[in-house]
Amino acid sequence: MKTSTFDELTTAPDKTLDCDVLVIGSGAGGLSAAVTAAYHGLKVVVVEKADVCGGATSWSGGWAWTPGNPLAKAAGVNEDRELVRTYLRHRLGANYREDKVEAFLEAVPHMVGFFQDKTSLQFVPGAKIKDIYGSTPGAGTGNRSVGPKPFNARKIKPELRAKMRHQLYETSFLGMGIMAGPDLAKFLSASQGNLQGLFHAAWRVGLHMWDLIIHRRNMQLVNGTALTGRLMKSADDLGVDIRVSTPAKRLITDANGTVTGAVVDAPAGSYTINASRGVVLATGGFPNDVARRKALFPKTPTGREHWTLAPKETTGDGITMAQAIGASFDTDVESPAAWCPVSLVPYRNGRTGTFPHIMDRAKPGSIGVRRDGKRFVNEANGYYDYVEGLLKATPDGEPVEAWQIADAAYVRKFPLGMAKPLPVPLFPYLRSGYLKKGDTIEELATACGINPTALAQTVADFNENARKGIDPEFNRGTTEFNRYGGDPKVGPNPSLAPIEKGPYYAVKVVPGSFGTFAGLKADGRARVLNNDGEAIPGLYVAGNDHASVMGGLYPAGGINLGPALTFGYIAGRDLAGVNDYEDDRPTVPQSAHHNDDAPARRFSTSRR
Ligand SMILES: Cc1cc2nc3c(=O)[nH]c(=O)nc-3n(C[C@H](O)[C@H](O)[C@H](O)COP(=O)(O)OP(=O)(O)OC[C@H]3O[C@@H](n4cnc5c(N)ncnc54)[C@H](O)[C@@H]3O)c2cc1C
Repeated sequence: MKTSTFDELTTAPDKTLDCDVLVIGSGAGGLSAAVTAAYHGLKVVVVEKADVCGGATSWSGGWAWTPGNPLAKAAGVNEDRELVRTYLRHRLGANYREDKVEAFLEAVPHMVGFFQDKTSLQFVPGAKIKDIYGSTPGAGTGNRSVGPKPFNARKIKPELRAKMRHQLYETSFLGMGIMAGPDLAKFLSASQGNLQGLFHAAWRVGLHMWDLIIHRRNMQLVNGTALTGRLMKSADDLGVDIRVSTPAKRLITDANGTVTGAVVDAPAGSYTINASRGVVLATGGFPNDVARRKALFPKTPTGREHWTLAPKETTGDGITMAQAIGASFDTDVESPAAWCPVSLVPYRNGRTGTFPHIMDRAKPGSIGVRRDGKRFVNEANGYYDYVEGLLKATPDGEPVEAWQIADAAYVRKFPLGMAKPLPVPLFPYLRSGYLKKGDTIEELATACGINPTALAQTVADFNENARKGIDPEFNRGTTEFNRYGGDPKVGPNPSLAPIEKGPYYAVKVVPGSFGTFAGLKADGRARVLNNDGEAIPGLYVAGNDHASVMGGLYPAGGINLGPALTFGYIAGRDLAGVNDYEDDRPTVPQSAHHNDDAPARRFSTSRR
């Protein structure tokens, strides 16, 4: 074990850099591993391909599925783990992988407790977030998730702030993130003239404008930017060396096949990073690898008929590097990717944005239809189900696309894709062609290329049932998840309202993804496996480089980030040789745990 202090790590004249652990990629998986390993006294280097850290994690909602988490316990919810297993067994079916599920369920409460107690990553409980399939045995009705506590970027030193990815523009209001829950509810209520909502929105937007002038960036971090901002601060507090614009190109192994480091590119040239303990791959899977998409994604004849939300750098580098030294790429999953319906937003500068339809589908008074004018899914279920339903309903050879339609009352009250409710005007979206409009349902259908007669019939049938609060075709509004995503002020069913006040509007929806599910095969210790099922010494994986712990299914929101953080934590501990969870127990008084500015504590090197 080296005895040099971390500050002595430099790139030597022979173009090498020595550390204990090299982490490749700086999203949830990579930063979780880096913080954990550094906390346990290891010298950690993180290399990041982009010129900013955070990957898809920064653009995410930040919610992590974490059953049994200590925040739930603190709220008096002591769920039996068997209930969670029951839910997963029912949802994952043949894709249920006991070793991986058990490793996840065992470590996840400790992971949340570790970050909450020891680092700047503070969480808020997802007390009201329900599992998607409420009628499945074991489904959770809340408290199985945590999200990052909002974070003031002023608490991050400017040099580190410069390495932080901005909020995804399409999910922001002029670059400012809005957090699901009370924050979003207040913004929506502002559009309906609620005074408290108006005050909240004016204060948040005013502060944001000030930050743009002074700091030239969003400083009120929420969702994924809060998650990565907090992880980056924690890593920095522990002395982790974070290097942006430094893509890893290939892994290095010794004569025994042990992974001992990697060759990286940097603006000044390439060099070697030697990692005495091992390397963690966390490059975010392959959502931007067109060739693998063509091979693995359904109804994607050239690989380009898919619009992922993940940043362009996520091209499967981790999988490619690992395969080059004999790792197993596991494509035996239900779905190769975490589907999300998206719409394409044309901007005046020629750029096309990708908007995720996460929330609008579930609001009462909007339905999704195909060009045949028929609905194809319960729109208020998960994003995964929407795209899966669309893929199934689309005949071979036809483009996979749908239209999310709504009426005038809806579009002034709720967002329809990128188009925002009052007081934001609709005309920019109409002018760009993003939003289609028709005075009647038939006119709207013609503008979109939908069968007008069929659409009029679909809307008439839907309206008649919606007034009664039922959806005989797809059972929309029958689960807690559906109703929670609706509008509590709407009755008899918060998920259903008729579409009856012209003019009518529509946004075209196409298949997209949050990231990929197929990935490297690994064991419960996050060690990458070769084609014989043996662990490759010194090689770990976390995040979407790792084959989905959920077997390529989407049982609950947060099933990407929960496992990414957890297997990063598992990898960090394994690399540090820490077996006992006692070592993660709080060592500082509780009052200090929730101080965002408290530096994360690090064990002395004598522990190693
Ligand atoms: C809009 C949106 C909302 C979402 N909401 C949620 C949510 O609320 N809950 C949830 O669970 N999931 C959510 N997701 C999905 C989730 O964000 C991702 O699955 C998760 O962040 C992936 O984490 P990761 O660490 O694997 O990869 P990433 O966060 O993408 O990080 C990978 C990093 O590796 C870098 N990299 C790539 N190649 C190299 C290389 N060769 N060398 C060095 N670095 C490299 C990339 O540039 C990137 O920064 C959402 C995604 C999006 C886009």
